[in-house]
Amino acid sequence: MTTLPSTAEHPGTDPAADPDPTPLLRIDGLAKQYRADGPFVSRDLSFEVRSGEFVAIVGPSGCGKSTLLRMICGLLDPTEGTVLLDGTAVTGPPPEMALVFQDYTRSLFPWLTVAGNVGFPLKRRSDLSAADKEARIAEAITAVGLAGFEAYHPYQLSGGMQQRVAIARALAFRPRILLLDEPFASVDALTKENLEDLLLTIQQRYADEGITMLLVTHDIDEAVYLADRVEVLGPPPCRVVEELPIDLPRPRHQIRTRGEQAFLEARALIHERVGLNKQRADS
Ligand code: ADP
Ligand code: MG
Repeated sequence: MTTLPSTAEHPGTDPAADPDPTPLLRIDGLAKQYRADGPFVSRDLSFEVRSGEFVAIVGPSGCGKSTLLRMICGLLDPTEGTVLLDGTAVTGPPPEMALVFQDYTRSLFPWLTVAGNVGFPLKRRSDLSAADKEARIAEAITAVGLAGFEAYHPYQLSGGMQQRVAIARALAFRPRILLLDEPFASVDALTKENLEDLLLTIQQRYADEGITMLLVTHDIDEAVYLADRVEVLGPPPCRVVEELPIDLPRPRHQIRTRGEQAFLEARALIHERVGLNKQRADS
């Protein structure tokens, strides 16, 4: 386990400083049609993610964000285009990626304890000893601030704590890329702030391993607060309509960061883009 660095300037945010020209993830011309005679959910959707980046994807409800994440992590085949991980096409779920869903009530097993849920995906990992698995489970539970709750069952935990368990389960896999699909859409405002800051803590904690975060959200403020870069998606068939680097210092702070001029400008610009997109979709 890495210790918290004192400065949280994250690797990969400056393209000039990146010695590796191959991005960790290249989303290249993705198009998706669920049925051959149906509408395109996305079309000509392209962007890149470098190792260690925190990228947020923002777009209106129903624009195809979850579809995009499922294509990225190999759960859904694109109709056109490719997802390249380290330059190699993704054709099935790669072990380097873990996905956290919005609905923790459906993603946790109610009959398993916290430790049981976090360790569940490791069960079939024959490359890991029992001791390694125990260590990973303990590390992931500590990383999300749930040490001491290992023997609890989901029904004994608050919604925010349950989502922490789901995040720990993804971390126990030691993914290079953590994909999060509107993970905080079902919790109250204060819990949401705590969980947002948890993601920043996790990013710092695993900085040496270069964990990369890809967060889908419809919450523009959340995207700006957390990300190094925001990809704004347009209405269906969705594609990237704006790519906005977020020039805000780290570590970020719920009050100070949200009061900064750069924060206000970024959120205004994204609101405008999403608003324009809505008008176009309505007309
Ligand atoms: P978002 O996550 O941005 O709200 P989704 O990716 O869930 O959007 O959905 C985008 C569009 O694709 C919607 O019109 C939705 O009805 C459609 N869609 C999603 N999943 C399926 C599916 N399994 N079969 C057919 N259509 C789907
Ligand atoms: Mg969705």
